[in-house]
Amino acid sequence: MTRPLRMLSPYERLTADVVIIGAGSAGCVLAERLSRDPGRDVVLLERGPGRRPGPEERDLRTLPIADHARYAVRHVTDLDGLTAARGSAVGGSSAVNGGYFLRWHRDDFADWPAGWDLDAVDAAYSELDGIAGSMSVSPVSDDELGDAGGAFERYWSTRVPVRPVDARWPVVGVNRVLGNRSGMLRRTAAEAYLEHALDRPNLRVLADCEVRRLAVSGGRRVTGVRADRFAVSTGEVILAAGTLGTAQLLLVSGLEALDGADHLDAGEHRGLAVSYRRMAPAEPGMVLPTVVHTDDGLEIRCYRDDFAAFIDGVPPSGPMVEVTAMRRSPVRLVAGDERVRLEFGEPSPEVTASMRAGADRVVEMLRSREFAGIVVPGSASVAAVPGFSQHAWGTMPMGVRTDALGAVHGAEGLRIVDGSILPTGGRSGPHATIMMMAVHIGNRLAGLG
Ligand SMILES: Cc1cc2nc3c(=O)[nH]c(=O)nc-3n(C[C@H](O)[C@H](O)[C@H](O)COP(=O)(O)OP(=O)(O)OC[C@H]3O[C@@H](n4cnc5c(N)ncnc54)[C@H](O)[C@@H]3O)c2cc1C
Repeated sequence: MTRPLRMLSPYERLTADVVIIGAGSAGCVLAERLSRDPGRDVVLLERGPGRRPGPEERDLRTLPIADHARYAVRHVTDLDGLTAARGSAVGGSSAVNGGYFLRWHRDDFADWPAGWDLDAVDAAYSELDGIAGSMSVSPVSDDELGDAGGAFERYWSTRVPVRPVDARWPVVGVNRVLGNRSGMLRRTAAEAYLEHALDRPNLRVLADCEVRRLAVSGGRRVTGVRADRFAVSTGEVILAAGTLGTAQLLLVSGLEALDGADHLDAGEHRGLAVSYRRMAPAEPGMVLPTVVHTDDGLEIRCYRDDFAAFIDGVPPSGPMVEVTAMRRSPVRLVAGDERVRLEFGEPSPEVTASMRAGADRVVEMLRSREFAGIVVPGSASVAAVPGFSQHAWGTMPMGVRTDALGAVHGAEGLRIVDGSILPTGGRSGPHATIMMMAVHIGNRLAGLG
């Protein structure tokens, strides 16, 4: 049962101990953790609407990110015809994403700063994990794989190791997707965290509130936030606006720590799509049921169907298997009037070569006997230009531009807890790891260990 948000009428000026910008995957966790102390006055500001996504939008058989979707915004990019989507909702991108919730590999944390040892990481992941965990995480079942997913796993299981479906740490090999879900509905960070805190008198949640800039005194001290209809003064601002939203606010607020920059450098996952035609239509199901992780840092994603089947208004381009380079490829986030624009650089020659070699292996796979009866013979084709995931991260890495809990070096009263502070990339998608990071930092800030 979704409780209504206790919306405040916008005052001219609010005060709070902590203001969190963005009720997304990380912001919902932090708002719940930090408001556990009744003596700490927390304000959470979200640009998306107060009405939370209902079952129709949370259905994992769709991605509700069409142009002009109610719970998503679009960012311009320099890639022909492509925009980048982000959630704009109570729940943030967790309210619109694919529902794939895999941990990173253990060795992805080797270069994280002190304080992020594997025991701490495992404890924070474990809070999220499992049917009884906060994000209600369960594997895609055999019945939910679809014919292409089944053929994909049969093909690879004779060639590479296979993670037991219930095991939590991924392997180099076949990884059946773990999903944050109740049946076929996305479980969002808002349901998992924020809902439990809405009755607390010391937590105020304001939706429909897009923050325009930080209030900064003397280039260093952050004293509050400014929006169109109101301002908040505070002892600490926590930016949880997602890598793109946080970059825009950092770039337009005149912080000395940004040194006059007009852009921030982020990492992205670039991927080469291998499209094909199907002999018969696919059964509807989760967007991405199964993947292979290779030892050279690729994630081979067996999408269930054409993206046109999941996103309204997208022209058909065929079902696909995507070969995604999980090593960092560059993207610049350039300040705009309202939102950052994404300018992609070329992936490195090594990344390009490994994607191309991976695509050749996928073409071979689609010709195999496992795919006979599914793929129209001779229909596989490799995209000329790599696309990108909706994953940009790492503009303000922990250990470099912030400390291990996201406090920004060279600024006072400013912390970042979202995809911006990921200090490295990982070999799985980012969602579980961004939430894991928010759980750990939230616990530390709340004095919970
Ligand atoms: C369509 C899509 C599919 C994806 N699928 C997957 C997947 O299946 N698996 C996976 O691992 N990852 C996936 N991702 C990525 C993953 O969802 C994100 O990396 C993760 O949710 C980011 O969490 P965050 O807390 O950093 O930001 P978000 O969850 O994006 O939260 C940021 C919040 O801040 C708000 N905000 C932004 N600017 C402002 C402002 N100025 N004022 C007020 N509020 C603001 C936004 O509205 C949003 O609610 C997907 C992403 C997208 C967009």
